[in-house]
Amino acid sequence: MEDKISDDCRFNTRLIHSKASKGYGQREILPPIAQVTAFQYENMEELEKVFAHKSMGYAYTRIGNPTLSAFEQKINEMEGGAGAICCSSGMAAISAALLAVCNSGDEIIAGSGLYGGSIDLFHDFEKLGIHTVFSKSMTAEEVSSLITDKTKVVFGELISNPAQKVLDIPAVSKVAHEAGIPLFVDSTTATPFIARPLELGADVVIHSTSKYINGGGNSIGGIIVDGGKFSWNFEKHKALAEFKKYGKMAFSVRLRTDLWENLGCCMAPFNAYLSFIGLDTLGLRMERICQNADALAKALDGIPGINVNYLSLPSHPYHHYVKEELNGYGGGILNFRAGSKERAYKIINSLKYALIASNIGDIRTLVIHPASTLYIRSSKEEMEAAGVYEDTVRVSVGIENEEDLIEDFVNAIQSTAL
Ligand code: PLP
Repeated sequence: MEDKISDDCRFNTRLIHSKASKGYGQREILPPIAQVTAFQYENMEELEKVFAHKSMGYAYTRIGNPTLSAFEQKINEMEGGAGAICCSSGMAAISAALLAVCNSGDEIIAGSGLYGGSIDLFHDFEKLGIHTVFSKSMTAEEVSSLITDKTKVVFGELISNPAQKVLDIPAVSKVAHEAGIPLFVDSTTATPFIARPLELGADVVIHSTSKYINGGGNSIGGIIVDGGKFSWNFEKHKALAEFKKYGKMAFSVRLRTDLWENLGCCMAPFNAYLSFIGLDTLGLRMERICQNADALAKALDGIPGINVNYLSLPSHPYHHYVKEELNGYGGGILNFRAGSKERAYKIINSLKYALIASNIGDIRTLVIHPASTLYIRSSKEEMEAAGVYEDTVRVSVGIENEEDLIEDFVNAIQSTAL
């Protein structure tokens, strides 16, 4: 179908009219759900060509599926990538992306304040001989001082969940690139609405699509977007040596034709469809969510005994990045400290509109006590590095009316005053 979209059109227009949103077989306005395991062919010769990558086509959903392709193309376009691969979960995407560039004996540099599941994954990697060196600050200076001959990748979250620290992508990518190392960024909490990490200098962007991209809280998923610009040194990155002939696309080709396929971590076609239609409204949802989070943070900041952690507050140590890297937005997550675990529980239990649930990025406001749930297996040091204390309440702000949210939180806090 003819592509009439202008290159300089704005975020929501691009989302709705992206190239990935057109050209389906029967002129459907959305990608059909190819909820099948396998695809049938007229003869063996045709299927052989597909397996040999000599002709385009789908054979088996774990290796490729048109509904997955539509979702991949749409995110790829929104992130400005060279190719994307969607996975069964955010953790599957992080695992596959890192395993594609690391062999046993290699090292990863990662932020110590990452999402707890990623920290747990790095502990699993130790058993495979892949060592992670944690950086407390993730500043360019600290990352640079941690790089060794064994370092194969630097991994950070753009806006860390729940710590609310911002990765200085231009500065960190510069020191990584000078050492021949790529920067992989988990941009789950930022989304392409707030920032496009590839344009800032990152080489690979990863999302848990279970969060803001899907937005409706109805399916687990993940995606890896390759910027396709990193110059791999195949002597250094031995994990990609076999794919040398693909040059800058070696990472994507290894994932697509080897690791992703063999790990068996494809996204379910129905989840790809749900995530595709969720993505259509990302801009509208993020704008409303960020406005609500900003208003709620300001309303709670200054209540005696409540200590709010939100990027848009001018007192926040990472506040300057809101303008410099985050398109003016502070994101959809805020945390506050309530003074004690007991009070944190009381506040959570007395909220009317916020659901007690272990997720972020939903249209519904969600709350949780991270120390006794998400970080239940973490050490005190790991928790504190992630900005989690015994009295921390994490709020993933939804799209409800701002006045109702403020009233609900203020009432819950005041009814449990110290
Ligand atoms: N990255 C971040 C920043 C997250 O918050 C999460 C989950 O909360 C993940 C990755 C893992 O995503 P999933 O639950 O889809 O595996």
